[in-house]
Amino acid sequence: MQNKSNSFVGMKKVLLTGISGFIGQHCAVELLKNGYSVKGSLRNLSKVDAITKAIQKEITPNGNLEFCQLDLLKDDGWEQAMKDCDFVMHVASPFISKIPKDENELIKPAVEGTLRVLTAAKKTGIKRVVLTSSMVAMLGDIVGDKNINHNSWTNINAKNATAYLKSKTLAEKRAWKFINDQNDEEKLELVTIHPGPVYGPTLSNNLSGESMTTFKNILLGKIPRMLKARINMSDVRDVAKIHVMALENKSANGKRFIVASERAYAYQELTTTLRYNGYEKVSSKVAPNFMIKLLANFNNEMKGMLPYVGKTYSGDISDTIKTFNWKPIAFEKMVLDTAKSIENVLNG
Ligand code: NDP
Repeated sequence: MQNKSNSFVGMKKVLLTGISGFIGQHCAVELLKNGYSVKGSLRNLSKVDAITKAIQKEITPNGNLEFCQLDLLKDDGWEQAMKDCDFVMHVASPFISKIPKDENELIKPAVEGTLRVLTAAKKTGIKRVVLTSSMVAMLGDIVGDKNINHNSWTNINAKNATAYLKSKTLAEKRAWKFINDQNDEEKLELVTIHPGPVYGPTLSNNLSGESMTTFKNILLGKIPRMLKARINMSDVRDVAKIHVMALENKSANGKRFIVASERAYAYQELTTTLRYNGYEKVSSKVAPNFMIKLLANFNNEMKGMLPYVGKTYSGDISDTIKTFNWKPIAFEKMVLDTAKSIENVLNG
């Protein structure tokens, strides 16, 4: 175990992986707003200026934002990066819902990356890791409707378990195994955060990630028929807020928290909200389940939808509310703030 000699007195430093992404940038803002110093890790340092600009829209970092280069698939640099940090927020993971040619494109960085994070965190005396998991790690056998809570796990051998579902489930399982296998006195702590599909305003104006692409395509009417599916959806601002609160909340240690709307929403409720508020290009039509299932035979994007077709996944957020004294942002606000933010980007 090493001493945290580089931390400023009174200012705790967090290594944040995935700072180039949609959720990671909101986490950086929320950390800075709450008095933490942030070290964001990137695969490619050429993104530093764009990320800094995005964060500066919300807060001036005042010297409390720095960057380092790390790759989930490489051993180099992890311990060095964590030496002067108190906590780790591990957000990075490849997020593509369409089926890749080789499922290890998603599984390998997710699982190996998580293990690299935890191994270095343990060696360098990090107090707690907050890991971004997902509701997709909690879908059970992926058959029929399901009530989801902190005890729920996705069966990766289930028929429709996609590479992304497997990557999130296996990475989180590996993380808990690492934590439970510790047999020394000074235990590394872990908290996992489980959002549903995440929307909300973009800070970077980058609409190429999975969340923003889907929402943009809905807005532009490029999705002619919506999937018939219900799940709790998440506002990125809530997701970031709970990630930060989970760093030091004593009763959060060792727990899994669903961070999402108070109930499951149908995608049709999302499109209806948009149309009601003047987004006329949005289609309110629903795709029959058989159509998605049929198309999934030929199309990897549709195949990625199969775990959700015709199903309701209802997440229980009562533990999250109780532990963090938190109330989710209203669904309608989340939908309209996302739409406004994407509109602003599209209109330059
Ligand atoms: P983005 O695609 O916007 O961000 C993904 C991040 O992961 C990027 O910063 C990316 O960095 C990083 N990353 C991917 N592969 C690697 C790698 N090999 N080494 C280092 N970094 C890597 O997605 P989100 O922000 O939406 O997602 C962030 C996390 O939240 C993920 O763990 C995702 O599974 C989880 N999640 C997301 C949900 C959503 O609806 N958005 C729902 C539930 C969970 P780079 O810029 O280098 O590509």
